Amino acid sequence: MKKHNFFAGPSILPQVTVDNTSKALHDFAGMGLSLMEISHRSKQFIAVVDEATALFKELLSIPDGYSVIFVGGGASLQFCMVPYNLLQKKAAYLNTGEWAGKALKEAKLFGEVQCLASSEDKNFNYIPKGYTIPADVDYFHITTNNTIYGTEIRHDINSPVPLVADMSSDIFSRPVDISKYALIYGGAQKNLAPAGVTFAIVKNDILGKVDRKIPTMLNYKTHIDKESMFNTPPVVPIFAALQTLRWLKEMGGVAEMEKINIRKANLLYDEIERNSMFKPTIPAKEDRSLMNVCFVMNEGYEQFEDAFNAFGTEHGMVGIKGHRSVGGFRASLYNAMPYESVEALVAVMQEFERKNK
Ligand SMILES: *Cc1c(COP(=O)(O)O)cnc(C)c1O
Repeated sequence: MKKHNFFAGPSILPQVTVDNTSKALHDFAGMGLSLMEISHRSKQFIAVVDEATALFKELLSIPDGYSVIFVGGGASLQFCMVPYNLLQKKAAYLNTGEWAGKALKEAKLFGEVQCLASSEDKNFNYIPKGYTIPADVDYFHITTNNTIYGTEIRHDINSPVPLVADMSSDIFSRPVDISKYALIYGGAQKNLAPAGVTFAIVKNDILGKVDRKIPTMLNYKTHIDKESMFNTPPVVPIFAALQTLRWLKEMGGVAEMEKINIRKANLLYDEIERNSMFKPTIPAKEDRSLMNVCFVMNEGYEQFEDAFNAFGTEHGMVGIKGHRSVGGFRASLYNAMPYESVEALVAVMQEFERKNK
């Protein structure tokens, strides 16, 4: 039976990424050696990093004055690297979920942190609005897509101070005006590559403004100066990321991707609204994530949750169980998720309703 991969992360990748990486694990670039066995300083691998960096800049139209780096440690290490490198006195954070909260907590180790707004009062089911970004903070940190709760900030905020964004789970899902951001980072395992590589897009002139000493490996400048080659980078995930970036370009880039993502998400949200057995967890349509669609059993049907999980599994739906802090279901529709898989999930929901209502 065909499996439909709705996992939230690590998650579905383009088939060509999986195929090309599998091949390279046996023979990389005609070297007769596995991608796992070659020097990261071989000219064949340097070409991979160079092309991945260039495609990153091209696909996101990254202006001059920004650097793209690939490092280890996950988005979680960025929660620490951001304040280490940028927080001199005070920073502002938007608390929109578990990851945003972890970033905020880490920043407190380095200085004063102002939480501008939080949606915790309603289990993070909305994006706070109407807050004012103070002019006297070193930066303002947001999480554009809240993977666990299924909310997303799908526009580029105008910030009077440097804007820092965790885009782990929605990078490359839509065009972004990079010039509005000072730093964007994310783990690759949601929309780009297998786990192990983290990307950062850094506006060069925001660095060098804090007084503290920064350990070499935690200093953005180290990785920028050495073009992600200060130490051994995650070779296999970077190779895989390159395959995804090439695929993205072939698909027509991020503008085309956004159109497809809107179609996919609308298909599923419309069914959740229509189907009497389910309801969405995010009331405001403009706050709903295109990447992680969260829904629960409707009132009166709560007892069917396990049954729908089992029914989905029987029909090849993988990874639709919701995160424990929300419950219900979460279908992640990352770039690589085919429209047909969303149609298949919708058909399963309709059949479940016919059988059980
Ligand atoms: C998954 C995720 C993280 C954590 O990433 P790691 O690479 O596991 O550290 C952080 N932020 C967001 C928005 C995520 O989705």
